[in-house]
Amino acid sequence: MSELSDWREVAAGVYVAVAEPAGVNVGLIVGKEAALVVDTGSSPAQGRAIRDAVARITAAPVSTAVVTHWHYDHAFGLAAFHDVLTIGHESVAGRISALDHGVTEAARGLGVDPAELVAPHRQIAVATAVDLGDRRVEIAHLGRGHTDGDLVVVVPDADVVFAGDLLESAGPPWYGDDSFPHEWAATLDGVIGLMARRSRVVPGHGPEVDREFVFNARGELAAVSGEVRRLVESGVAERDALTAGSWPFPEVNVAAGVARGYADLADVGIKGVRPTLPLA
Ligand SMILES: [Zn+2]
Repeated sequence: MSELSDWREVAAGVYVAVAEPAGVNVGLIVGKEAALVVDTGSSPAQGRAIRDAVARITAAPVSTAVVTHWHYDHAFGLAAFHDVLTIGHESVAGRISALDHGVTEAARGLGVDPAELVAPHRQIAVATAVDLGDRRVEIAHLGRGHTDGDLVVVVPDADVVFAGDLLESAGPPWYGDDSFPHEWAATLDGVIGLMARRSRVVPGHGPEVDREFVFNARGELAAVSGEVRRLVESGVAERDALTAGSWPFPEVNVAAGVARGYADLADVGIKGVRPTLPLA
């Protein structure tokens, strides 16, 4: 369960390892004085395995661990980093400490005691930076998308961006009931805005990708949002939306996004009533 691959160097001093069972990318950025870990694995035990693996590749001590969002495969290893600075979006602590949104069940399913889960020490709303000695790492919340607390981690000198699950290349993006389908594409615009022509992005799952891949993903996510809006405005009931609509991803991947997309439009007062002719 807590299998961790070897590190692969994706740029000078920037490494990625893949942690099972979720195939999640764990990032490591090594500076002259300190190292920063991106995402902590699925359990405190896996978090400890990540720290052991860091020690095998560099003498620089881990000073910081960042969680890109609250999902189990990214944040449940936080307890293994209790002695260093841990950073997450301000929404993450509430998710984990309240043990809501399936946190308790997810932990038990992984054989993790929910009482072992901890929140990040530092909660950020917008952005912060971490100095590793000879390089600076930037951490930013560019908006909501996969969750309400997605962070991206930027290594400017290496031209690498860690995007968490805002982006996936192992399969389609994952919509959950905590996703924001109408805002996700705009958040990816923010990621694109950070990229130069040669920049590479490490997604939450799957191999790193280039700017064109992010453009395509942005277009597909915008298409889902636009299709939900079209269906609502045409009076298609939510229960019929999956079959009535045309989607860039398989139904199993997009279903939660459609449900959430309908709910979010209803919340802002778009009711999806079919227009009728005036009778008099
Ligand atoms: Zn996720």
